[in-house]
Amino acid sequence: ALCCSIAVVANAEYKTYQDPKKPINKRVKDLLSRMTLEEKVGQMTQIDKLVTSAEVLKKYYIGSVLSGGGSVPSPTASPETWVDMVNGYQKGSLSTRLKIPMLYGIDAVHGHNGVYKATIFPHNVGLGATRDPELVKRIGAATALEVRATGIPYVFAPCIAVCRDPRWGRCYESYSEDPKVVRSMTEIISGLQGEIPSNSRKGVPFLAGQEKVLATAKHFVGDGGTTKGMNENNTLATRHGLLSIHMPAYYDSIIKGVGTIMVSYSSWNGVKMHANRDLITVFLKNTLRFRGFVISDWQGIDRITTPEHANYTYSIITGINAGIDMIMVPYNYTEFIDGLTSLVKNKVIPMSRIDDAVARILRVKFTIGLFEHPLADYSMVKHLGSKEHREIAREAVRKSLVLLKNGKSADKPVLPLPKKASKILVVGSHANNIGNQCGGWTIQWQGQTGNVTVGTTILTAVKNTVHPETKVVFNENPDSKFLKLNKFSYAVVVVGEPPYAETFGDSLNLTLPESGYSTIKNMCASVKCVVVLITGRPVVIGPYLAQIDALVAAWLPGTEGQGVADVLFGDYGFSGKLPHTWFKSVDQLPMNVGDPHYDPLFPFGFGLTTKGAKAD
Ligand code: BGC
Repeated sequence: ALCCSIAVVANAEYKTYQDPKKPINKRVKDLLSRMTLEEKVGQMTQIDKLVTSAEVLKKYYIGSVLSGGGSVPSPTASPETWVDMVNGYQKGSLSTRLKIPMLYGIDAVHGHNGVYKATIFPHNVGLGATRDPELVKRIGAATALEVRATGIPYVFAPCIAVCRDPRWGRCYESYSEDPKVVRSMTEIISGLQGEIPSNSRKGVPFLAGQEKVLATAKHFVGDGGTTKGMNENNTLATRHGLLSIHMPAYYDSIIKGVGTIMVSYSSWNGVKMHANRDLITVFLKNTLRFRGFVISDWQGIDRITTPEHANYTYSIITGINAGIDMIMVPYNYTEFIDGLTSLVKNKVIPMSRIDDAVARILRVKFTIGLFEHPLADYSMVKHLGSKEHREIAREAVRKSLVLLKNGKSADKPVLPLPKKASKILVVGSHANNIGNQCGGWTIQWQGQTGNVTVGTTILTAVKNTVHPETKVVFNENPDSKFLKLNKFSYAVVVVGEPPYAETFGDSLNLTLPESGYSTIKNMCASVKCVVVLITGRPVVIGPYLAQIDALVAAWLPGTEGQGVADVLFGDYGFSGKLPHTWFKSVDQLPMNVGDPHYDPLFPFGFGLTTKGAKAD
């Protein structure tokens, strides 16, 4: 063995691109000059893990793999299993002629949410309520460690959408309706990728090291501005409107060195963003000088043409020529690869466009050290769901809570609740349900009600917090007889929206499930009630407000329900501020702060405070 390894070393030809001491531009140029068209097209192709194997990656020179839907590995897989899976795929890429490592990406949009036992942070709407960019940066850093624990270097986050209408099913992925708040929250990129040195060239992708992950600013651009908030629809706006509301957070993301930007499914004034060369190539790449790569959304180019007039060839031409560098195909990769290859051979798509795309992808891969560290080990698994990260999540929950009402008159506040109350009733569909507490994008794409992962429910948190002699009684949906038999000091009523994601969450009426309202009505009619709403957005609550003693918007807090009890019982004060305007009636929508006929139930920025025993 000794003889042969010496022989291999002696034979290995020096290649500039393999030399980490060479400047990245030189490495990119060298590698690009060695690549065949097939190898280039492969780099531009991202496929789903469901159709991935080492053999496929090798055969088609696939550049990237996406952790999309499906239970691969199983929903309760350990981080070691994830590492093994990603490494197994990577070995296919490393056995290609040029040994270009593939880039594995995953949606980690509120912590490493696809992985069992990971810390699940509040969804972005809750983080927007904290108004605390420094906290959000720490969340980014924690998320990076948890993602690396599973051998993954790349996340499709943050979503920097500016949700202008809560009827949008993705409003909870938006930090705020206010571009200024969203801009401040791009600080999460500094947590995910590390803090970019102040002398860096603007637009150049950045990664601080192997404990950090490549980020994606999404969805470029105007995703939160569609008519009636309907997902993937049309954003009607002047250029000034688009640039002043939806674009600014991209400036901050680019300055922070974000490595990739994902294109939006939506259209702007009738033109699909995936077809918008003016915004992707001319504005983003040329004017803003973004040097990372642009990735399509999931089957995003397919949707350039309507299902009735599906024309995949047209989609490829339009999407690639618009300036998209990597295509999230994600299943029918041979169709994409064959299509793109022959379009380049026939000069419908110029080679210069392919070289631009591949150079950008390679630049990102060199930047993140992927050639030097293509395979992960188990040394990071300890970070997944660690105590430190759960503490950060708990702090985020505390700071995200918005107190909307506290007592039927100002001089009789209900909160904080006394820890020594004799008997507390905890009720509602969301009181003891981790899945409901986390919302969509948790283990499954759509999220799932029930015991999907490990965490502290609000019920458990209340029990942990009260005085040992205080009785806490849980009943998901008690009847009036039960209430008469028992004498409760308080009822903590935890109701909300069921988990959903994307289009499945579009809602024209923004109501809770009927049981949520009946629980509120029944409880508040018979006992002093604190209503805790677990929702991704403002919902219809006006008609019930008079009956409610105290009202808290807790958004989608994630696994650390203890943060809710910390504040309800006064260990910490309420400090959250509304990130979105709370409407009186859905007929008012869209309604945003600054509108001429602004008449909300609770205005943007509203949030009562209480004093807490401890300081955050
Ligand atoms: C979503 C993206 C997401 C992608 C990959 C799409 O449906 O719009 O936000 O990153 O799927 O899972």
